[in-house]
Parts: sequence; structure tokens; C-alpha cells
Amino acid sequence: MDLIPSFSVDHSCLLPGVYISRTDVLNGSKITTYDIRMKKPNIEPCVDVAAMHTLEHIIATYLRNNAQWKDSIIYWGPMGCLTGFYLIIKDQQPCETIGKLMIDAFEFAANFKDKVPGTDAVNCGNYLMHNIHYARYEAAKFVEILKTSPCYEYPKAERLDTEKGKFFDS
Ligand SMILES: [Zn+2]
Repeated sequence: MDLIPSFSVDHSCLLPGVYISRTDVLNGSKITTYDIRMKKPNIEPCVDVAAMHTLEHIIATYLRNNAQWKDSIIYWGPMGCLTGFYLIIKDQQPCETIGKLMIDAFEFAANFKDKVPGTDAVNCGNYLMHNIHYARYEAAKFVEILKTSPCYEYPKAERLDTEKGKFFDS
């Protein structure tokens, strides 16, 4: 099988930021997948799994209620490696624009004081696995990075040249 494009990014020098992971055309319409990277992969600790789950709920709620953006949002969900999220939107916007949206979304999470939305057994697949305290902490840290030193382009060595075009460390 071919290596999928997101696995062929060199994760060893990836910094927190907002990246275009891929662009697809579906029935003539462009859709864009963004890599919302919160952590340096394999260098700093990943986000606690329960906090990640809570951030998923809060930020999905934020995005789906945002008057300017809600009609553009296709998907918001965590990466399995717990170092960031994927955001899929209709069409394409500069990473800087998505970065501003993420500042608003993560600030919303950092200041969230209500009951985490959708955390009942009827509307969540693991409703006990949440941590609002760590979620707020991680959200505030990421806002600080997005405001001060965000990266918007994958490292130059992003596409590793390997024998037969494959490597297996995602
Ligand atoms: Zn859930």
C-alpha cells in the first residue's frame, strides 16, 4: 500500500501551528484539511486523552455555532497521536486566517465554565472520559503559541525521500 500523505510529513521537526494537510476536490468543490498541531511530536508530552476529548466537544460546539464559519465547517476531530486536531472546511483559507479562528476557538475553551456540551451517555461514546481542567490548561497554552510563535508551513524536509518512497513512522 502507498504511504498516505500525512504520514510522509517529517514529524521529527514539526512545530506547533496550523498547516494545510491536504486539499481535495469533491464534485468540483475544493475542501481543505488543516493540521492544527498543538505539540511537538515525540518531543513534548502529548495532550491528555481525556482533555483532548473535552477539547473536541467544546471546540466542535464553538465552530458549529460560529455565525461566520459554521456553514464552512465539515469536520473537527482529534488526531490519534494526541498532538493536535484535524479541521476540514469547504474551500480554502490561508493558514493565518484559520490560525485566528483557532485563537478564538481555543480561547473559548480556555475560558469555558459551563458543563461540557454533549457529555451524557446518550450523546457521547465515552462520556466519563473528560477532563475540563486539563482541557482549559492545554487550550490556554496553545492560544499563547498561536499568538506568539505559530508555524504555518510544514518544514522544508516535509516529504522524505526514502527508498521506494516509503517510511513507516507516522
Ligand atoms: Zn465524546
